Amino acid sequence: MVSIPACFSESYAEARTKFCGAAATAGGAIRSWLNPHARGPNGERLFLDTARFGPDDAPNMLVLISSTHGVEGHCGSGAQIAWLATGGADKLPKDTGALVVHAINPYGFAWTRRVNEDNVDLNRNFVDHDKAYPKNEGYLAIANAVLPQAWTEESKAATDRAFAAYAQKHGAFALQGAISGGQYTHPDGIFFGGTRPTWSNRTIRAIAREELGRARRVGIIDFHTGLGPFGHGELICAVPPSAKSFPRAKAWYGEELTSPEGGTSTSAIVVGVMTDAFPQELPDAEVTPVAIEYGTYSVPEVLGAVRADNWLHQRGDLASPLGHDLKADMKERFFPAGDKWREMVWTRADQTIGWALAGLTRG
Ligand SMILES: [Zn+2]
Repeated sequence: MVSIPACFSESYAEARTKFCGAAATAGGAIRSWLNPHARGPNGERLFLDTARFGPDDAPNMLVLISSTHGVEGHCGSGAQIAWLATGGADKLPKDTGALVVHAINPYGFAWTRRVNEDNVDLNRNFVDHDKAYPKNEGYLAIANAVLPQAWTEESKAATDRAFAAYAQKHGAFALQGAISGGQYTHPDGIFFGGTRPTWSNRTIRAIAREELGRARRVGIIDFHTGLGPFGHGELICAVPPSAKSFPRAKAWYGEELTSPEGGTSTSAIVVGVMTDAFPQELPDAEVTPVAIEYGTYSVPEVLGAVRADNWLHQRGDLASPLGHDLKADMKERFFPAGDKWREMVWTRADQTIGWALAGLTRG
C-alpha cells in the first residue's frame, strides 16, 4: 500500500530526491536541467527534472507540471510522486506517453516563494515581451500599500485601510484583480511579470520542443494551490473561451471546468501563463491545458502571506525571528500541514488525470 501523505515533501531537496527515485523505479527516462542563476537556501544547486514514460513516438502525451509558483510545488510534486508510486506510468493507455515536469521553478520551491529568482511570477511571464505590456491601473493605486517600509502592526493596519478603500470603490474581486492580475511596472512588487523570458520560460520551451515535438495530442495539468475551498481542486481553463482549445477542454472536463474570463473561477483574469508556451512551441499538435487549483486558506490570508514574503525578501531579514515566522506562514498557506489535505489533493489529481487520459485517447 502506498502512503499518499508520504509522497509529499517538506523541502525542495527532499522532493527532488523522492521524485528522481520514484521516476527511476517506475522506469522513466530522467533529464535534469540546472538553473545557473540561483542556489537554494543551503547553497544547494537547483534543477528542473523531467521523467518521460511510454513510446518515443507516442501520439498522445500527458504532461504533469509542478512548482510553476515555487512553493506550490509541495503540492504538485506530491501528486506527481503519488502518480508514479501508484503505478500511473504502467497504466498508461496504448499510444500514450507521459512527461512529468518536476519543479519548473526550483528557486521558488526551495525558498518557499511563489516567484522565481528574478522576483517574477511565471504565470505572468509568458507574454510577448516585444509588445506593450498589459496595464494594471489598480496595482498602481495600491503599490505602496503592497510593499510598506516596515512590517509592523501599524503598517499592516495601514495596508488594510488602503485595500478596504479600494474594495469599497471598485469591489472585492476588483481588488483581488488589482493585486493578483499581474503587473509589469514594479519589479519589487508582487505578481510581477518580468521584463524578459525567465530561465524557466526558456527551459520549458526547449523541453516542449525536444520531448513533445512528435506528439499529435498533448494534455497538460499544471498544479497550483492557494485559491478556493480547503482541499478542493478547481479545474481552471488555462485559455480564454475564444481559444481554439477551449471547446476541447470543455469536452474533457465538462462542467467542472471553470473560466476566469467567463466569471466562473476563483482566479482573477491573467495573461501570459506558463502553459501558453506549449501551443506556441507545438503548432501542429492539439494542446489541451488545464490548471488544477487546490484551495488552502482564505484569499486575504493567502495574499497576506505573499505580501509578507515579498516584503521579507525586499526589505526584511530572512534570518530574524520575524523572517522565520513569515516563512512558516507562507509554507502553511500554500501547503497545509496534516494528511487530510494531501489525501484530497491526490484523490482529485487521480480523477483529473483519468479525465485527461480519456480525452487524449478519444482523439
Ligand atoms: Zn499558482
